[in-house]
Formats: sequence, structure tokens, C-alpha cells
Amino acid sequence: MKIGVLALQGDFREHIGVLQRLGVEACEVRLPRDLDGLDGLIIPGGESTTIGKLAERYGLVEPIRAMIAQKKPVWGTCAGMIVLARDIGGLNQPLIGAMDITVQRNAFGRQVDSFETELTVPALASVTPPGQPLKPFTAVFIRAPAIRAVGPEVEVLATLDDGTIVAARQGNLLATAFHPELTDDLRFHQYFLTQVALPSTPRNGQNT
Ligand code: GLN
Repeated sequence: MKIGVLALQGDFREHIGVLQRLGVEACEVRLPRDLDGLDGLIIPGGESTTIGKLAERYGLVEPIRAMIAQKKPVWGTCAGMIVLARDIGGLNQPLIGAMDITVQRNAFGRQVDSFETELTVPALASVTPPGQPLKPFTAVFIRAPAIRAVGPEVEVLATLDDGTIVAARQGNLLATAFHPELTDDLRFHQYFLTQVALPSTPRNGQNT
């Protein structure tokens, strides 16, 4: 399996490091040809206006949309989640715009630029060894966005105590408002690789 990380701006190196720790071949994506032969893509955190503008300038928007249409797994973290969203409240910035979520940028205000919190994420049971309890996930939020609404095909994976949605999945698309690549907990990357990526792999003609 080979996973690309969009490497235009932001913390792509950290995602590549986690993928390598998990024994997965990982590469930096800067040009459309870098997408050739990939089994999945991560759009990292950073600054979503910059990432969107550079993606547009380098001709990456349409090839990434095509990859999503082919049901390849794509995961956006923080700024990457903003870039993946269909609706960011009317702000004018380039987007991939594929996931049926409404996202608010910088949803946690200026004073609280950054915080960490423990999330309960039932979906991570799928990457927890049998017999072991489901541990909370320490989520790092940095000038983070929030998901304010989800479409009917979107599964909510995690919320804050006040109900704010911070992780969601729509088939082959995964979105997290926080940064799993900045912790030593590899479970979200494992979830992406084994649960989001696998359904797109043909399994003995089962999906015909
Ligand atoms: N605030 C950034 C944005 O709106 C996202 C921050 C991040 O990715 N850590 O693009």
C-alpha cells in the first residue's frame, strides 16, 4: 500500500513519519503525477487558504476529486478537513469540496488558539486488540475548525463534551478537526489504513 501526503504547506512531514512507523510506503505529493499509483491521500493541517490556492495553482484539485470519485481513501486533518469540506460558510477560498460537511474555520476563538482534550472514539475499537479496553484519544487542536453540520451519508466519529463534531467519515473520506500526527497514538492512522482504505479494495468479487 502506498499513501501520499499533500506536501504543499503544513505538517506533512509528521504524517509521513507516522505512516513510516506503521510500515507503510509514504510519499510527498506536490504535482499531479505524484498521485499516480497511490492507494490513498492525506491532506495535512496548516493553513487552508494557502493549501487550497497552491493545490489550484499546481493543477491538483481535479485529480484529487477524480481520486475521490474512484473511491480512494482521502483524509483531511484540520486545514485538510476544511479543504475537503463542501461548505465552509461562504468563505471564498479554493476547496476540493467533496465531503458533505459544513465546517467553521477557527471555531474555537482567538484566545484559545490551542488545546488538548481526551476524546471517546468508538470507531477506534476496530483497531484495538481484542480484549483490550478502548482508550480515549488525546486530540490536539490548533486554531482548529469544527464541523457544524453533516449530510445524511456522513457518520459522526467523535464529538466534544458540548456536542461539537470533531471527526467524521463519509465512505472513503475521513475528516478530523485535530492533529493525530502530532501524538504518539497511531490509532487514527491505523483506522484510516485498515478501515477507510480497505473497503475500496476489491475482495474476491464480493462487491460486484
Ligand atoms: N486555522 C487553520 C485554517 O483555517 C487550520 C489550522 C490547522 O490546520 N492547524 O486553515
